[in-house]
Amino acid sequence: MKSYQELADKWIRGSGEEYLDINPADKEHVLAKIRLFTKDDLKESLNRALSKFEEWSRTPSPKRGQILLKAGELMEQEAKDLALLMTLEEGKTLKDSMAEVIRSYNLLKFYGALAFKIGGKTLPSADPDSRIYTLKEPLGVVALITPWNFPLSIPVWKLAPALATGNTVVLKPATKTPLLVAKLVEILSRAGLPDGVVNLVVGKGGELGDMIISDESISAVSFTGSTEVGKRIYRLVGDKNRMTRIQLELGGKNALYVDRSANLELASELAVRGAFGLTGQSCTATSRLIVHKEVYNHFKQKLLERVRKWKVGKGTDEVDMGPVVDEGQFKKDLEYVEIGKREGYKLIYGGNVIPGNGYFLEPTIFDGVTPESRLFKEEIFGPVLTVTEAENLDEAISLVNSVEYGHTAGIVSMDIKAINRFVREVEAGVIKVNKPTVGLELQAPFGGFKNSGATTWKEMGEEALEFYLREKTVYEGW
Ligand code: NAD
Repeated sequence: MKSYQELADKWIRGSGEEYLDINPADKEHVLAKIRLFTKDDLKESLNRALSKFEEWSRTPSPKRGQILLKAGELMEQEAKDLALLMTLEEGKTLKDSMAEVIRSYNLLKFYGALAFKIGGKTLPSADPDSRIYTLKEPLGVVALITPWNFPLSIPVWKLAPALATGNTVVLKPATKTPLLVAKLVEILSRAGLPDGVVNLVVGKGGELGDMIISDESISAVSFTGSTEVGKRIYRLVGDKNRMTRIQLELGGKNALYVDRSANLELASELAVRGAFGLTGQSCTATSRLIVHKEVYNHFKQKLLERVRKWKVGKGTDEVDMGPVVDEGQFKKDLEYVEIGKREGYKLIYGGNVIPGNGYFLEPTIFDGVTPESRLFKEEIFGPVLTVTEAENLDEAISLVNSVEYGHTAGIVSMDIKAINRFVREVEAGVIKVNKPTVGLELQAPFGGFKNSGATTWKEMGEEALEFYLREKTVYEGW
């Protein structure tokens, strides 16, 4: 089995305790021993990022863009190796890993190209001997904190716009998946990024997080992760002496509504893909199905037919779904299966651990789940799906909106009126019509509503640049 020790030793320069980066498909294969960062290591990284800001911010943005474009090309050349590493480290299938790598190098190229046109605007002045214009400037040192479930594309969709706009960075990926980010930093370095512009910091969020966020050198924090940690960061930023810009992308409990006019074949396909693709470990995963009473039984039959064909196994084999990422998440998923049983809901599919070495769980479906249930309200982040009947469209919309989250939501319907009402009345940052709740395209902005995000700034799309820029207005007379 392949070792990634050299990669870890070169790019993850902590001096603290050792962490074993293990393959979740067998619980044995150590990909690398990672030395975690101490508080002193972190302080050094923050200082380095600050000391590099002047040089990097003064590098013309087309030059910065060229480095990102080159990094995109290099990543494309190594796509296969990166996809394999992702499957070994996080567990997702090779096909899903490859899709994420492709998205990542396209993101590098997209923001590389956009860097060529970062600029302000010119406005007329009421004074004939004068003009007004605006300049877009980077913020300074930005902290990027990312989760494990999209271990490459989330770091890239923050890092690429941060660099394109001239900021220097302290990047803290999840401890479970640091190797892909190490590879990303290596690629950026080969593409010509000066040393110290991106500073990779690996360590437990609970130990290093407060220090990163509270440090006075940090001008902005972009965080993707759980709502619980997001709320904590919000409070900490508020307590700082210096204003810090903040972007939060948080948890979800996404619903797919199957309307009475729905194509049920399509609906069952979208439901299974949305719920069990990526082992349900996606912030956009379908975790609740709301189904119109007129098609309830027929739809369930189609759903069961389809989920029976869903293959679970090692991501390196020909399967639809890999293991759960680690022991902690595995225990959490199993706890929710027990909660479902205890609360008396009908387990219509799965719920069992698949024998073997890795963290494998069957795709699991509970039927007749009511809105008071913890299964209905709380984010599980695993392959556990609930099905709930709706009397009509009104009730369906109200069920979709009844949770604290508002990340994505979907409707399967042929009825244009129902679709338009759903789009208008559902509170979610992304709405999918006859499409799975999962899957985002990089050119479109996205960001959650309610407790799924701070709704202040969008990620991806051209809009993502705005978070990393401030606008200066110049009045010039002659
Ligand atoms: P998490 O909140 O536990 O951790 C996310 C990151 O924050 C990690 O790097 C972690 O080390 C760090 N962290 C932990 N405690 C911290 C603290 N006190 N201060 C600062 N940083 C801290 O989340 P996770 O388990 O890595 O990821 C799963 C969560 O991420 C789910 O809730 C999922 O919905 C969410 N997510 C959201 C999106 C989105 O775009 N909205 C995308 C992917 C995942």
